[in-house]
Amino acid sequence: MPTFEKKALGTRDIGAAALPLRLLLRFSGADYELRFIKHYVAFYFRYAQASLVLGVVLIVGDYLVDRISHNDGPANLLRLTMAVPVLLSGLGYSLLPKARRYWQPVMASFIVTVALCLMFILVRIDEEGGAGLKSWVGVLNFTFLEFYCFVILGVQFRHALAAGVAILVAFLYALWGHAGLSTQLAGYWSYHVVTLFILAAGIGWWREFLLRNEFVARTALDDSLVEAEHRALRLAHYDEVTGLPNRRLFAELAGPALERSMRSGVGCAVLHVKIDRFGGVNDVYGRGEGDTVLASVAQRLRACIRGSDVASVNPVAHEPAVVARLGDNAFSVLLTDLDGQERASVVAQRLLAAVAQPIVIHAQPLSLSASIGIAMFPGDAQDMVGLTHCAEQTARVAADAGGAQHKFFDEALNARARERAVLETELRHAIQVGQLCLHYQPKVDARSGQLVGAEALVRWQHPQRGLVPPGAFIELAEERGLIAPLTDWVLHAACMSLRRWSDHGLSILPLSVNLPASSLADATLPDQLEGLVLHYGLQSSWLTLELTETMVMREVATAVGVLDRLRTLGFGLSLDDFGTGYSSLSQLKRLPMSELKIDRAFIAEVARGGRDAALATAIITLGKELGLQVVAEGVETLEQSEFLIGRGCMLQQGFLFSRPVPQLMFEQMLITGTTGTETGTKA
Ligand code: C2E
Ligand code: MG
Ligand code: MG
Repeated sequence: MPTFEKKALGTRDIGAAALPLRLLLRFSGADYELRFIKHYVAFYFRYAQASLVLGVVLIVGDYLVDRISHNDGPANLLRLTMAVPVLLSGLGYSLLPKARRYWQPVMASFIVTVALCLMFILVRIDEEGGAGLKSWVGVLNFTFLEFYCFVILGVQFRHALAAGVAILVAFLYALWGHAGLSTQLAGYWSYHVVTLFILAAGIGWWREFLLRNEFVARTALDDSLVEAEHRALRLAHYDEVTGLPNRRLFAELAGPALERSMRSGVGCAVLHVKIDRFGGVNDVYGRGEGDTVLASVAQRLRACIRGSDVASVNPVAHEPAVVARLGDNAFSVLLTDLDGQERASVVAQRLLAAVAQPIVIHAQPLSLSASIGIAMFPGDAQDMVGLTHCAEQTARVAADAGGAQHKFFDEALNARARERAVLETELRHAIQVGQLCLHYQPKVDARSGQLVGAEALVRWQHPQRGLVPPGAFIELAEERGLIAPLTDWVLHAACMSLRRWSDHGLSILPLSVNLPASSLADATLPDQLEGLVLHYGLQSSWLTLELTETMVMREVATAVGVLDRLRTLGFGLSLDDFGTGYSSLSQLKRLPMSELKIDRAFIAEVARGGRDAALATAIITLGKELGLQVVAEGVETLEQSEFLIGRGCMLQQGFLFSRPVPQLMFEQMLITGTTGTETGTKA
């Protein structure tokens, strides 16, 4: 905001040249100057008009006084013929509409003109022997004019000053040159007119100074109120980060569009654009950068809609398209006047392409993708709330299907997505409040039935659904970013159990824990695990980490580094579900595994001979050749077990020996050292 230069009144940084100008009272900003004039003009304009009328009355009065008491000469009449018309034309001018714009300088020049006329007339009156400049009447006229300039006209002191000086000069000139006064009397009158000039100018200046100060304070307050009001209005309707309409404004704009569409029978569509895996951007770059990315995505979406055949985006009613931000990483587009799904599909593809353009962040290109859900009006829902809901659900379905695509609303698909969304929320909650628990499945030496180890398997103790097996939620946890906290919980729980068994003097057998696919990408995993066993005072060899063949083979190069470190630290490493992936023998050789688990799928058919039996035999031989401990999982029958023993695979795990059991039951097994069932009898 421009400031009124109060410091002009004597602070040290003001140069000598600048000082007189600043004394002429100006705001530093031209805008502010205009606002000041505008603010006071109405009041002073009326004031000036009234004064012009008063001027006419006074001059006519002067004329009458002079006529009655002194003379009736032609000079006296000049007052009426010269000064009065000037004042009256001033009055006339003030009635014109555009007079307000320049009223200050124009009025000042009227006053000066009247003053010059008066000077001339008073000199003439003196010559005719009347009461002109030689009497007090002259000074009275001068006094009136000066005060008129400074006090009545003087909202802008500098115009009043110029006019006042002109009048003073004219008076002094007339006093000394034309009034025919003695030097003494001219000096005497001059002293008075100069004193009066200084007094009038001082009052005028001081008054404007106060007005301006008051104006600054009042305007600052007004401005901040207006600004706050605007801000509140903006925040209520627009998203701060992207400048797009928010949910509320979107609904307000969409309402009339849907009504029109209903009347005309032409369709509308709501496209819900959700940026895939945007949480990762915030995690890596921070929220500030995340906001910048969102703002540029928003800009692209707008440009895309603007450039499209559905015309421009402007958040006013009757626009054929509106883009809004509805959530953390989600935008909505309303397309109106659509003749079918094809157009919506074309626009969706255009939006996907716009989002896919890399965004440069920290001089690195960042590639994003989006999932778009499309709901059609009036087919999918009859109001905006319903449409938005359908589009949001559908966007989630598109995201679940891998993202970077658009889908049209489909009730069946959405029902499944809703279920998964509910499950996700519940799982998040379950991890926080500890609804998870571990069950333990023993690994035995099939010849003796002795326990040689165990596998910890997670379960979810759901308040309504009961005990939920991992197959129902591990994949979802991986998709929705919940697998890291879940694995943390499992590792802590497994370590706590080992600690407890050690403290209770139970025999310690290696405990296997399943790790998710994402864990191998984390180079800090070995350090974290080392910290964990240290924390619980365990030996790292007590823990065996199970990784599926598929996930190890997917990123062999990075996996080998992490696995090598884990092995060096002393952890056991087991290749789970072996046989289902695509290991090449050369890659298998590079992996520092300690154990290989034959997948259940091969075991199921082994007793019948055939291909599975041949494959299982081959895997057992391969594992032994590579120096690995081979475990058969999913052993359910005595025949399977005996077949495997016959092929040299003594370590077995399966329902034949025991199902996964809760902790207390497993501790009983640890005490006896067996599963408590005769081999050959099902658990
Ligand atoms: P997995 O690691 O291969 O675990 C063995 C699965 O086979 C377990 O199923 C177990 O109950 C089941 N099983 C064992 N013996 C038999 C048998 O004789 N017959 C049959 N039909 N099944 C048998 P579960 O507990 O449902 O776990 C399924 C999968 O979930 C596990 O396969 C593992 O990949 C995953 N999982 C379990 N717990 C965790 C965990 O804590 N973290 C992670 N990331 N995954 C886990
Ligand atoms: Mg396993
Ligand atoms: Mg397995």
